[in-house]
Amino acid sequence: MHADPAAIRPPFYQPVADECAVFELAFRQQLPLLIKGPTGCGKTRFVAHMAARLGVPLITVACQDDLSAADLVGRHLLGDGETRWQDGPLTRAVRQGAICYLDELVEARKDTTVVLHPLTDDRRILPVERTGEELEAPPSFMLVASYNPGYQHALKTLKPSTRQRFVALTFDYPAAAIETGIVATEAGVSHDQAAALVALATDLRRLAAHDLDEAVSTRLLIHAARLMQAGLPAGSACRVAVIEPLSDEPATRMALAEIIRAHF
Ligand code: ADP
Repeated sequence: MHADPAAIRPPFYQPVADECAVFELAFRQQLPLLIKGPTGCGKTRFVAHMAARLGVPLITVACQDDLSAADLVGRHLLGDGETRWQDGPLTRAVRQGAICYLDELVEARKDTTVVLHPLTDDRRILPVERTGEELEAPPSFMLVASYNPGYQHALKTLKPSTRQRFVALTFDYPAAAIETGIVATEAGVSHDQAAALVALATDLRRLAAHDLDEAVSTRLLIHAARLMQAGLPAGSACRVAVIEPLSDEPATRMALAEIIRAHF
């Protein structure tokens, strides 16, 4: 095992704008970062890339609606007749000086986000009430959160008092030329095959605005491309990687299939 995180080659990430510089400056200035954007557009890959580039460990937490403050901070566990404290991922990140990535933070319960507040202002402390500790975050600790503003949960948005603690970046699906390069690199398909999938996505995204909850993501295009690369005909690859994951609605599926037929 190599212990030196700086020795790990960062995973491939194709920058779209100035996001790498913003991330690095936020890290150096000890500012928490919020990344907004639709699913499958590169948020997680970006954070993994930047953590490796900066040589800082990354701890990721997938937030869901029953994520409690104890899930983040830690809890006492009973074992062998005694209780022992176990740090949660946030506490581990603070102790280690890691980047803590809270994926889909809006999903977490409101009381959960409150534990982030003393960490996201200039105190940079994590009070661990149960153990009586007050941990001071080392300079390399950084809090990064993401959320998808497209999910229209009327009740689920970040409280202004939480979101105003972060500097924020908006992500979207990359411009066609950039997305083509990403699909070709990630799936090992030719430039022409990748370009054809991206052209299809451009048409499907127009439709998505009114007929689908979520547009076709870069992730889905990469799945289709990988199946094509492995030998599945393009039409079938698009059916299983694009139509099936996107919709159960017969009329929408037919409309998607028609657009795919026009492309492949
Ligand atoms: P999100 O976290 O936004 O849901 P991911 O980061 O998991 O999405 O992106 C899905 C996939 O798309 C990644 O695994 C990666 O293969 C690819 N991807 C998207 N954007 C980029 C990019 N800019 N550079 C490299 N790969 C990308």
